[in-house]
Amino acid sequence: MKAVRLTEVGKPLRLENLPTPRIGPEEVLVRVQAAGICHSDVLYRAGISKASPLPMTLGHEIAGVAEEIGADVKDIAKGARVCVHYMATCGRCAYCRAGHEQFCATGRMIGKQWDGGYAEFARIPARSLFLLPDEIPFVQGAVMMCSSATSLHALRKARLQRGESAAIFGFGGLGFSAVQLAKALGAGDVFAVDINAVKLRLAAGLGAIPIDAGQGDPAEQIREATHGRGADVALELIGKPETMDAAVRCLGRFGRVALVGLSRQSFAVAPYENVINKEAEIIGASDHLASEIPLLLEWARTGKLQIPAAVTRVIELDAEPVNETLDGLENGTNYVRTVIKP
Ligand SMILES: [Zn+2]
Ligand SMILES: [Zn+2]
Repeated sequence: MKAVRLTEVGKPLRLENLPTPRIGPEEVLVRVQAAGICHSDVLYRAGISKASPLPMTLGHEIAGVAEEIGADVKDIAKGARVCVHYMATCGRCAYCRAGHEQFCATGRMIGKQWDGGYAEFARIPARSLFLLPDEIPFVQGAVMMCSSATSLHALRKARLQRGESAAIFGFGGLGFSAVQLAKALGAGDVFAVDINAVKLRLAAGLGAIPIDAGQGDPAEQIREATHGRGADVALELIGKPETMDAAVRCLGRFGRVALVGLSRQSFAVAPYENVINKEAEIIGASDHLASEIPLLLEWARTGKLQIPAAVTRVIELDAEPVNETLDGLENGTNYVRTVIKP
């Protein structure tokens, strides 16, 4: 089968021809129908976040069809439409039993530490599979499994309450879902912060209040728009010092900011002015939980969460278009998500 793989850090991904994976008794062979290309994949290629062992088939946003079913798998039939929760976990350690399986002692992330979806087939633990309702296209199902799921987890970590305002920093794959999910959770004003005019228009189309960070300090703009109160919740989805800084500063009293965008860079916090004096909270949000996926699928099925074809771009499974997409993600792009269709 064809697979696009990271063979060396800092180098373009390469197309390889591999044997079709053999599955274990608790695994399913998934014929990939859609694999989303995520900004995290840029970090794996660059070595800022480490994928291992190499070579590794990237791709952690996967939807497809169950092609072959392991002997001990009960609840998935051959031919079922499925999407993949990207953590391969043990199901038995203390974190798994507590429902915090992103910290599983032996957990591996599919597409980073376990061959992922930039391939014709992927070997997936049955416990990581969810049935994808017929109403949800494969492309949307794939994209949801990282960007939407992580956005929902971050909003839950930030404890967004009905009627509260939310400021979403970064309107890419995650931000597109985060705006809709904040609304679905009952948020009041939702601000979308970006510098890309196309994306700001898209955000406005979803009912968000666009904040153009190119036109001045976004924290100040949000403060003005909330009549001096500041935002109740902020999500930082970019991972740049200046946006992390602005996300903290835009908060009002008792505000909570969830940091989601991956970065190795530090940012400074004025502790009295921006945290202590407001009893504000800075919260880390890592990945998402399997328990959050059924709600997402239900919202997608009923149209509360939409990832329309117009904002996604489909490419073929080959090294060149994948590398071009990763380059684009590194430098800024108008597309919310690019998806490989093998
Ligand atoms: Zn991702
Ligand atoms: Zn575990």
